Amino acid sequence: THFGFETVPEAEKAGKVQGVFTSVASKYDVMNDVMSVGIHRIWKEAMMDWLAPRPGQKLLDVAGGTGDISFKFLKRAGSGHSTVLDITENMLIEGRKRAEAAQMVDNLDWVVGDAMALPFADNSFDVYTISFGIRNVTRPQEALDEAFRVLRPGGRLMVLEFSQIPVPLAQKAYDLYSFNVIPPMGQMIANDRDSYQYLVESIRKFPDQETFLSMVQQAGFENTSYRNLSLGIAALHSGWKI
Ligand code: SAM
Repeated sequence: THFGFETVPEAEKAGKVQGVFTSVASKYDVMNDVMSVGIHRIWKEAMMDWLAPRPGQKLLDVAGGTGDISFKFLKRAGSGHSTVLDITENMLIEGRKRAEAAQMVDNLDWVVGDAMALPFADNSFDVYTISFGIRNVTRPQEALDEAFRVLRPGGRLMVLEFSQIPVPLAQKAYDLYSFNVIPPMGQMIANDRDSYQYLVESIRKFPDQETFLSMVQQAGFENTSYRNLSLGIAALHSGWKI
């Protein structure tokens, strides 16, 4: 129907999401820069500032796609290891090309898998990140539960995701921009209106800061908090497995 993803049954969502990212994979990095006017880079650096990677840490970067977060993390840590997990193989293939170009193959593993059923043992990682990924997961609470399970005690969760602007008028202006500008731009640049229509709809539907914070707590995380980025267009959520 013309309501698009709104009416897609839950069981089909994963397949749709995979379709979207399979079709954008080769253009993903460029489109990210164009659509966000480069601002996603600033948000990812803000994520690293708060995360403060340390040498030797073991990161699990879920919905890691082409590996942006992992590359930044390893660069800041100086040494360490990252496992990039994603449900779309084509995204990981793009990422691995980047790793080869940056001569960082040894510090990275690329794993096809689902955030809701991680193929890892309990207590295996120091840090869990998910950047612009959890919004795409069919049942986000299950992804958070899995994050808690695979983190070691003392391990840390950090989520970067689009959020809601707490000022209604500003949110309204932002909605007008995103619904009217992003899909036509996706059509023009990538010849793919539907993927970018999905993008703006999924952003609008995602829980606000406080609601998502309570989901993080529900998974068992403690010392939880969040920071708004760009007035709340995006937000970082942090939690610790104690
Ligand atoms: N983390 C990267 C970044 O910040 O640029 C990529 C984010 S991209 C917008 C979202 C990614 O989530 C896609 O690569 C998609 O394949 C992945 N994804 C969607 N659902 C997933 C799931 N259930 N489990 C793992 N990855 C998933």
